[in-house]
Amino acid sequence: MEALKLVDLHKSYSQTRALDGVSFRVESGEIVAVLGPSGCGKSTLLATIAGLEQPDQGEVFWNGSSLSDLSPHRRGFGLMFQELALFPHMTVYQNIAFGLQMAGMDKPAIRKRVQRMLDLVGLPEFGPRDIHTLSGGEQQRVALARSLAPQPKLLMLDEPLGSTDRTLRERLILDLRIILHRIKQTAIIVTHDQEEAFALADRVVVMNEGKVAQIGTPQDIYRKPASLFVARFLGLDNIISAKSQQVGAQLMAETTIGQFPIDHQVKGKFKLLLRPDKLQLGKAGPCQIKGTVIERSFRGSICQTVIEVNRLRFRFDFPSSTPIPPESDSITLSFDPQQALQVFP
Ligand code: ADP
Repeated sequence: MEALKLVDLHKSYSQTRALDGVSFRVESGEIVAVLGPSGCGKSTLLATIAGLEQPDQGEVFWNGSSLSDLSPHRRGFGLMFQELALFPHMTVYQNIAFGLQMAGMDKPAIRKRVQRMLDLVGLPEFGPRDIHTLSGGEQQRVALARSLAPQPKLLMLDEPLGSTDRTLRERLILDLRIILHRIKQTAIIVTHDQEEAFALADRVVVMNEGKVAQIGTPQDIYRKPASLFVARFLGLDNIISAKSQQVGAQLMAETTIGQFPIDHQVKGKFKLLLRPDKLQLGKAGPCQIKGTVIERSFRGSICQTVIEVNRLRFRFDFPSSTPIPPESDSITLSFDPQQALQVFP
């Protein structure tokens, strides 16, 4: 069921088009990430949904009704962001209860709700604790409990895990996803961090210069970026120039590192992406390239390897168990062009 619908949102600040025709929908209970580089319009989009900014054009709908005339606090949306610090002089209980008291809820109901929230975020005994006695991860959970306590129709998260350290972040991302799904919370998360967006969201909206560049599941977007911008933004940067050439019945991509068959109907010059994870060591695949190992970098389950082929450098990811030759040695890689190549006309 559709919950939030954005229709053709435009917003400019003097010369800057912060939003330039943004439309998408969020289903009830769905987690959608808005992902894009700094300045692409993410915060403006969030402020427009919240009602803190008025769009120059376009409309925000909730359950089919326009929110244009509804002030921010009457929209019933919640916001959680990194800088929205917990009140340091209050206990955990008081922090979570704060919004409920402001809303005029009676004491027994508040007590019940706060306890439910503490249970939900896995801190059932933490009510009496002072904020300064909590670890970073515990503070994040309390902040989440506080945002969820008033039962917002839509929870908006702005770079929620911004500065937390990597290990903690990975755990919190997964916990956050489990918690939001458990209560079927409709949520929009805004982030410039691809990993955060991909790991948290059911669907991702990639933005660039105030426009939607691509919408899809994380898998769809990673497998088939819709443009060079999206590919590069996702770190898929093995991109080379190519020219099409018909060889018998087969269309070929002619490049400085070799000639490869392509399915895509394309004429003249275009760009070709070599997916970093679709090449293998050795000559087994139908297409081959030969190069020199420049750098190997161990990343746990994968080994990131920089390889130079005909003066161009590429980054490939191999399973860590792959016996990559040492730096400066030559290397032969092979691939299936249907899996490893993507054409950008
Ligand atoms: P993001 O959150 O993706 O970093 P923003 O929505 O903050 O992007 O900004 C989008 C563009 O609009 C940027 O170029 C920014 O400088 C501009 N912008 C945002 N808010 C204002 C404002 N209040 N006044 C002038 N320009 C603004």
